[in-house]
Amino acid sequence: MIAGNWKMNKTVTEARDFVTGVQGKLPAADQVETAIAAPALFLQTMLEANQDRVLRIGAETCYYEDEGAYTGEISPLALHQMGIPYVIVGHSERRRYFNETDDVINRKVQAVFRNGMTPIICCDETMGRRESGDKIHWVVNQVSAALKGISEENAAKVVIAYEPSWAIGSGTSASSDQAEEGCYLIRQTIADIYSDDLANGVRVLYGGSVKPDNIAGLMARNNVDGVLAGGSSLSEDSFIQLANYQN
Ligand code: 13P
Repeated sequence: MIAGNWKMNKTVTEARDFVTGVQGKLPAADQVETAIAAPALFLQTMLEANQDRVLRIGAETCYYEDEGAYTGEISPLALHQMGIPYVIVGHSERRRYFNETDDVINRKVQAVFRNGMTPIICCDETMGRRESGDKIHWVVNQVSAALKGISEENAAKVVIAYEPSWAIGSGTSASSDQAEEGCYLIRQTIADIYSDDLANGVRVLYGGSVKPDNIAGLMARNNVDGVLAGGSSLSEDSFIQLANYQN
């Protein structure tokens, strides 16, 4: 899976132009699944521009209640009714700037599944944790907390991204060894909670300064099933290059 996270970038017009521009240039979805998570404001326009329906259009976050008096929040029920298949949950920027706790993230994962969508759960790792040698507990805790109470049937569908915050937006990706180690840890955690079989079927992505010139080395690793790209998903050219990394 080659996924992009636009964060708070672009306008509705730019979003429409991007989707129009990638039509016919992405690999078939049964070979490489491509997705862009975009601000909720753009989603309807992007869905309408996505004539060939190869690109999946996802949301960057949603609330954990379906509806009600929650001013400004994004309803997972409404996202599903629009035809949105994926929602990013627990990105490190949501954890850091919007105070999302493991408990809130778990409730959001439940809400996404309850509404028939699939969460792309992000798992963060700070340089402090890495240097203190605490990375294993940190990663294991986030994955376990996010999946608390999630049935096997739903866990088998989940997508998890290892996104060390020290690599995000830094211009320098984790090395392929570091990406492999993080993705392996996540898969092992899923195997411990559920089973080896289930864990082997889950897609684990790496995110943090992925670019057209480093994607092939990351994707070559056993436990890296895809990427979640920020900056290099913003231009049509680089996203098309990421999606066609095998050619
Ligand atoms: P960059 O690719 O810009 O480092 O962002 C990664 C990210 O946060 C994707 O969710």
